[in-house]
Amino acid sequence: MVRMTVLASGSRGNCTVVTGGRTSVLVDAGVSCREILKRMQMAGEDPAKLSAILITHEHQDHVQGLSVLARRLGIPVYFTEATHRAWMRWMTPQRRMTYADWLAARKAEAAAKAAEAEQTGAPDGAETSNPFYREAALEECAREQAEMAGQAEAEGLAGQTQSTAAVVPDDAEASSLPEGPIKSVAADPCALPGVEFFKAGARFAIGDLDISAFTIPHDATDPVGFVLRSEGIKIGLATDLGYMPPNVSEQLRGCDVVMLESNHDLDMLRDGPYPWSVKQRVLSRVGHLSNAAAADYLEKNYDGQAAYVVLAHLSESNNMPELARVAAEWALRNRMNLLANKLVIAQQHEPTTSISL
Ligand SMILES: [Zn+2]
Ligand SMILES: [Zn+2]
Repeated sequence: MVRMTVLASGSRGNCTVVTGGRTSVLVDAGVSCREILKRMQMAGEDPAKLSAILITHEHQDHVQGLSVLARRLGIPVYFTEATHRAWMRWMTPQRRMTYADWLAARKAEAAAKAAEAEQTGAPDGAETSNPFYREAALEECAREQAEMAGQAEAEGLAGQTQSTAAVVPDDAEASSLPEGPIKSVAADPCALPGVEFFKAGARFAIGDLDISAFTIPHDATDPVGFVLRSEGIKIGLATDLGYMPPNVSEQLRGCDVVMLESNHDLDMLRDGPYPWSVKQRVLSRVGHLSNAAAADYLEKNYDGQAAYVVLAHLSESNNMPELARVAAEWALRNRMNLLANKLVIAQQHEPTTSISL
């Protein structure tokens, strides 16, 4: 069985569980660790069964709970190398280690671990493969919550314009970073149980899931969407894109579930609370897909093959679920079979009913 549960979707945080065969992965971890675990419980998903976390891009609404959750569960995180680098810079703008140093340290650590395992006979990664092995992670969860609450209060309205706030500092700073001693794992907020790299445009496997990553037009370092395949079922995830380019449309062909961004209503965005610069960014070719643009894709390029079309990443300030729904229903008006409760609106504040195929 293949199952997909959207735990959170919208400008304030994104996180989806996909299960195929015996493998479950999380795509993005854009709400706090505690919230993700709470929502998994609500949705009947078992965190101990997660094999990995896949990251689409480094914006805050996709990585908010990442490091704490990965450490808590002891599972690896899959990024493109450029996204991982950008994420590390976002996490620790004042960090003292260069990225090259980090890569070198990672290799040295792996070599040391392998040597140690050879000596002691302990299986590699025995500690990290045991979920919940770190009691300290519980404290981290609590601390993260407290920090987020404080931050939200301090930032006030700024939280609603996360997209600008989440833009990662420019790479130009990298060369001026002084070199320094390697931080201990415990003190490093970027420390993860495992980091795996994939390339945009490449195909790779995690357990029973076969995964394709494809480039999307968005103002992050190396943003991707995913197609996940298992048992002959194909799930396509495409949010955070300024427009629908032919490569994305092509990737979504033949999908049984299409999760598509329907971010904003154009009139609401124009008349809404965002500053003009942010409005321009959202509307740009590397911003977000409007209800109208999503509808245009559904009407003209969508192949009609999906059992479910999920409208996702709705903006709270500049959209309403009914506006997104009406635009998509109008676009699908000649494909009435799709209107038999198979158009789903993913929600921000609670898990959306699981889709099983
Ligand atoms: Zn984004
Ligand atoms: Zn986003």
